[in-house]
Amino acid sequence: MILVVKNNLFFYKNEIIKKVSINILEISDKNSQNLGLSPYYLLLLLCIKISRVQMLQNRKFINIGIVAHVDAGKTSITELFLYKSGITRAVGSVDKGTSQTDWLRVERERGISVRSASASFTWNDININIVDTPGHVDFSSEVERSMLAMDCAILVISAAEGVQSHTETLWNALQKTKIPAILFINKIDRAGSNIDSVIAEIRKELTSNIIVMQSVINEGSDAVEISNIVNSNSFSSLSENSIESIIHNDEILLDSYLVGEKIDSQKLKMSLKDQFHKNELFPVLFGSAKYDIGIDDLLDVITEYMPVAKGDSTKPLSGIVYKVEHNKTIGKIASVRLFEGSIKNRDIIHLGNNDLEEKVSQIRKLQGQKYIDVGELMAGDTAAICGLSSVVSGDIIGNPDQIKDSISLNTPMLTAKISPMNEEDYSTLVSAIHILSDEDPTLDLIWLKDERELHIKIMGLIQLEILEFVLSDRFQIAVNFGKPTVIYKETPAVPFEAYEEYTMPKPCWAVVRFKIEPGARNSGIKYNSIVGVNSIAVRYQNEVERTIPIALQQGPFGWEVTDLIITLIGDEDHNIHSRAGDFAVASPMAIMKGLKENGTKLLEPILEYTITANEDKLGSIVGSLTQLRADIGNPNIENHRFTLSGTIPVSTSLDYSTKFSSLTGGKGKFATKFHGYKECPIELGETTPFRGINPLDRAK
Ligand code: GDP
Ligand code: MG
Repeated sequence: MILVVKNNLFFYKNEIIKKVSINILEISDKNSQNLGLSPYYLLLLLCIKISRVQMLQNRKFINIGIVAHVDAGKTSITELFLYKSGITRAVGSVDKGTSQTDWLRVERERGISVRSASASFTWNDININIVDTPGHVDFSSEVERSMLAMDCAILVISAAEGVQSHTETLWNALQKTKIPAILFINKIDRAGSNIDSVIAEIRKELTSNIIVMQSVINEGSDAVEISNIVNSNSFSSLSENSIESIIHNDEILLDSYLVGEKIDSQKLKMSLKDQFHKNELFPVLFGSAKYDIGIDDLLDVITEYMPVAKGDSTKPLSGIVYKVEHNKTIGKIASVRLFEGSIKNRDIIHLGNNDLEEKVSQIRKLQGQKYIDVGELMAGDTAAICGLSSVVSGDIIGNPDQIKDSISLNTPMLTAKISPMNEEDYSTLVSAIHILSDEDPTLDLIWLKDERELHIKIMGLIQLEILEFVLSDRFQIAVNFGKPTVIYKETPAVPFEAYEEYTMPKPCWAVVRFKIEPGARNSGIKYNSIVGVNSIAVRYQNEVERTIPIALQQGPFGWEVTDLIITLIGDEDHNIHSRAGDFAVASPMAIMKGLKENGTKLLEPILEYTITANEDKLGSIVGSLTQLRADIGNPNIENHRFTLSGTIPVSTSLDYSTKFSSLTGGKGKFATKFHGYKECPIELGETTPFRGINPLDRAK
């Protein structure tokens, strides 16, 4: 025996050479002779092996997301990361359809990302898992789910287009979920790049707590260059103002500063890092993904300043499924971010939301360009888990305490009916849509078996176009979409009391009385009970409470009923005849009858819009908006351009982007975001037929 590793000690000829972190490994003389290698060569091999094992055990992870509006350069930046870290041999290009993360055919053909895609690489000895997210608002639900997996984010802003309304939405979501972010101003090479104005916009629209870490010369040309103000150990060129703002937030540094002590770079760096982690300050960096400028610095700032994943692999499991994909041979593949605990192949794990236990068949990671079975997922890391047949995007694994609440970036405001072009594809279509809803639960599939109809909810028309492509490309089904309808809601028109006796045919007994009042707009459903348990027992009251949201799914116009306060104010159960199910029948009957008799108002979804265009177009744009029932604010005119904002119904503005584009000859900006629901005259809205058994149908 010549080389032995035992009890974490490394022996050579019975002498301890090194303390190592692997336990037992032996290489014998015989081994070395058989292999025809000298013991010294084997010693070298062993040292390499040990350092690899140590490396694996001391791995640090950063899970970072890259978010921005469409076309800011997210995918191009991700490509450079992969190339620079040695994962790819050439830089993939979105323009040529060769990027790694835009791999769906539709993405390559259209040059836009419609799904989030993960990749892993190493930089400065830190393992980085990056999620490249789609920028179009129609695919926001992919971004929402990815945010649950991120430790930090890169928010990309185009130097030419500046802060967009979607940038603001993303920023607000990052703030709400407390995800530290780097603001990366890309495309500084482009004609029209205006860094000063972008920084001013950031200060005004996002945050003034920024540290600009670089300066730029020859902006707006391909000779653009960056110089670093902050290097890893020097803050020499940082402005007095910036240094003061770092010190200002740090009590200890402030004390030293006030007594005139010199503050060294190392302390400044630690303080900066700490403030980035706490979301008190945000670094601003510049670059051009087109000319590979500023990308190394971006990577250095990620590894030097952004938080590495915390997590203890020995604790009970806690993780989130942020994405589900289907593979024809393997089945479902779940992308999982693990916060605590560890998962191995063949482990049985608990999927929180649907109370199911399932067996892991394989844990895969993308290494280079192919997937390999890594066998184990440790706390802090992300990987793809196979074998979970019931998994749905958004599922929690194990303990939910670690998981942040998901943040809503956009709401589906349209519903569409899908039917197959060929009737014989009907059942294939049903299963395809089921698969797609597991991947994106916001589709919220409604399958009316009797009517043979499928309805889904969507965010916008681009999503519909992509769905059509996916159904044909992936499932070989040609489909028709009915004209998408806006998702209306209803709310009680006046306060009233609703009453129902369900006492026949015996044995059954449930008598309920509710007070129903209209609530504030966008306040949702509020329920409470003032009935004593002597009148209606707790278990029956629980059943009433459980039934209410179901009863309110469809009102007299066929839409969800919302913005109301509903109080159980009476009446009685029967100590022999009552069963919980009786209350589940009586409550919807009382509510529906009351709503029908007293009437509901129709509510429609409203968008907030911001328009920028040349001054001479103001008249024609205001004219066009008026026809669309828009609410128009006062225009703000500056440098012959005007900015106008207000609200507009979704139903009238579905194709306004196209109209706007032709009105302004493509030289304007029309941005919208969800505002809320507002009353709509019934003659301008739509109703929809009742689906399933109507509670008013007493016989059923
Ligand atoms: P994403 O939608 O945010 O993923 O953006 P892409 O990476 O798909 O890039 C959108 C377009 O902008 C593509 O045509 C890119 O070639 C181009 N692009 C990306 N980065 C830069 C840049 O730094 N400068 C210039 N001039 N173009 C860029
Ligand atoms: Mg992209």
